[in-house]
Amino acid sequence: MSTQNEKPDQTGSSEELREQLSRLDQENHELKRLLNTNPDTGLPIRRLFERRLQARVQMGGGSCGVAVIRLDAAYDRIKDNRDPSKALLVKSILRIRRVLGENIYQSDRADEFLCLLQSDVSAEKFRQLLERVVAAIAARHEPPADDVNFGCHVGVALADADTRGPQELMWKAAMALNEARETGQRILYYSQELGDRTRTREELEADLRDQLRKGFSHFYLLFQPIVNPEGTIVAAEILVRWKHPERGLVPPDVFIPMSEDNGFIRHIGQWALYQSLHTLVDLRQMGFRGYFSVNTSPLQFNQPDLVERVKGILDNHQLHGRVLQLELTEGALLQNTDEVTHKVAELRQLGVRFAIDDFGTGYSSLRYLQDFPVDTIKIDRSFVQGAPEHPNRQEIIRTIQFMARSLKIQTQAEGVETQAEHDFLLQQGCNTMQGYYYSPPVDVNRFSQLITSGRKLPT
Ligand code: C2E
Ligand code: CA
Ligand code: CA
Repeated sequence: MSTQNEKPDQTGSSEELREQLSRLDQENHELKRLLNTNPDTGLPIRRLFERRLQARVQMGGGSCGVAVIRLDAAYDRIKDNRDPSKALLVKSILRIRRVLGENIYQSDRADEFLCLLQSDVSAEKFRQLLERVVAAIAARHEPPADDVNFGCHVGVALADADTRGPQELMWKAAMALNEARETGQRILYYSQELGDRTRTREELEADLRDQLRKGFSHFYLLFQPIVNPEGTIVAAEILVRWKHPERGLVPPDVFIPMSEDNGFIRHIGQWALYQSLHTLVDLRQMGFRGYFSVNTSPLQFNQPDLVERVKGILDNHQLHGRVLQLELTEGALLQNTDEVTHKVAELRQLGVRFAIDDFGTGYSSLRYLQDFPVDTIKIDRSFVQGAPEHPNRQEIIRTIQFMARSLKIQTQAEGVETQAEHDFLLQQGCNTMQGYYYSPPVDVNRFSQLITSGRKLPT
């Protein structure tokens, strides 16, 4: 191509050229818009937001902050069947726009948006705007979506003198959003305290991973006696403990839910099962004829080879399945019903018993009592404690007892702390009991003392 051909006077009139340039300009503009907006929602993308945030942070002075807005779990649940065309999503964006104007950007997820606190807006005004966003999203929709209800959570981080950069602000806002979602709060501001808590959690998680590799060297088991109406120890519930070298005892209520989240509970559960049955062999040599009741997580029931694993541990120790009771919470029974039913049936064939833990506190669907052949219901301690003074709790216990009797299921009361509670439970025909009234969870030495002495509990 000769350069002469590109000379304007040879390719056409200046009028044509202007048109050409203007078209090019338009195309360029369109291309830029496409590159910078999310195709589904038409919102400017996160990179643009980060660029503006960067500029804002560098400028310094005045207010500066980030809000992350995410539609809540209620939207998650309906999005596939009620919002396949994303009409409700786009509508929610329009609602946010009505409050925030152009100050809304798309985050990495379709249902998450970013908003920048500019220097010309006070922190107080920003909060009010976010409150209006929350109300706007939760407002009723028109038919045919008038039966649909969802809202949003907002995580906010404000820059202070120590703020090092945009990444840090984004990270803090995301942390606040996470916490807001977990605790069901609509708007949550990042705080030092939240940061510390998250860091502690991350450190604990790393230490836990380390323990997995080191064969649980800082873990041990406690045994809480389970007694029959005569006070004879017939079983023990196995409770796992983690003694952290620097932090001391980490409460199970901290590390168990954490391990459920990251999947470590499978390993902990397997370890507790092995370790407890290993101990049981020694206790049987001392004459103990009871069984062990071991807590299991729903995640363990997702393991395809759970039955083989349990069978392997029993065989390894030449133990019959009847020495083992597995405790499951109501939630576990609701997931993967078919698969769980199948595993429960196979394990029961081996003689393993099943108990529903914390009965009455979860979904309390009576259906699974029919679907799952369980042996024992553990009456939750929230009904047991104070039962003698609370007619409602007494009524619940009576109802559970009645139901269990007609279904030929055993009952086990947990958290018994007083003689009055004990008396009431016996009167109702409760089969077995556990709680501080008889004994707290104890170590293996104390437990073997209790069984070899043949003493009745409470002593
Ligand atoms: P859980 O299964 O409901 O265990 C009973 C909890 O009640 C234990 O708390 C026990 O120490 C406590 N307790 C026993 N008697 C009394 C009493 O008379 N009064 C009161 N107020 N509390 C009593 P712990 O040991 O802190 O365990 C907490 C939870 O951690 C357990 O609740 C269980 O859900 C979980 N957990 C413990 N070990 C394991 C395990 O090996 N695997 C799994 N998946 N979860 C476990
Ligand atoms: Ca339990
Ligand atoms: Ca329980």
